[in-house]
Amino acid sequence: MARRRMIYEGKAKILYEGPEPDTLIQYFKDDATAFNAEKHAVIEGKGVLNNRMSEFFMTGLSQIGVPNHFIRRLNMREQLVRMVEIIPLEVVVRNVAAGSMAKRLGMNEGTELPRPIIEFYLKDDALGDPMVTEEHIIAFNWASQQDIDDMIALALRVNDYMSGLMYGVGIKLVDFKIEVGRVFEGDFQRLIVADEISPDSCRLWDIQSGRKLDKDVFRHELGDLSEAYTEVARRLGVLPRNGATTKGPKLVQ
Ligand code: 5GP
Repeated sequence: MARRRMIYEGKAKILYEGPEPDTLIQYFKDDATAFNAEKHAVIEGKGVLNNRMSEFFMTGLSQIGVPNHFIRRLNMREQLVRMVEIIPLEVVVRNVAAGSMAKRLGMNEGTELPRPIIEFYLKDDALGDPMVTEEHIIAFNWASQQDIDDMIALALRVNDYMSGLMYGVGIKLVDFKIEVGRVFEGDFQRLIVADEISPDSCRLWDIQSGRKLDKDVFRHELGDLSEAYTEVARRLGVLPRNGATTKGPKLVQ
């Protein structure tokens, strides 16, 4: 059997050449990293959970007309996605003050924001993904004004969809990050949501208890990350409520 070609290895995922033109295979690893990879661990089953949850969110987004790279899930850890030209920016949407914004602006974590706030960060590990403004983006040619408008529109639609979905299962979508890619269709090009949407890239707080159900559990050692992600998956119906876990096969009686 021919060895497939690896295109890129990131902190939590690997991209392989896909079986069809303009496709890639996105493989979800169990690795968890934080603080620009200063902290690292392998969390058994995380890749499986994120593969399923990203499939779930991207499929739902497609159904409401938000274009994204997801084509189909291939197996427990892999999904087939469209090849895109990735825009070198992380687009963050915030509904509640937390994380780097709360720290930067001296705000109490948990303060509701008057409107969703969108921020752009340059994807550059060596620089620690610095925040950039629209001025920087246009001046340094990372994206055009039209791209920025399209990224904002996509990010707000993802926010509305994800906020509603999470609210329905008792979870507050505090903030999240998406990545956006360019695809070419004949003479046209457009931007679509790429990468992944999972508890690795969102802040999710239980509405009743305030319990954190996202990667902050790992960042700040607040408990069992895999248990928190499993809880999100179960509430969304992505995993059965009882029985099957990601830890291994279960005897059917
Ligand atoms: P903050 O800027 O507060 O650290 O992050 C804002 C939101 O974007 C959080 O939900 C966080 O998980 C997500 N985020 C920011 N940078 C990254 C990143 O490099 N990788 C991932 N997976 N998520 C990120």
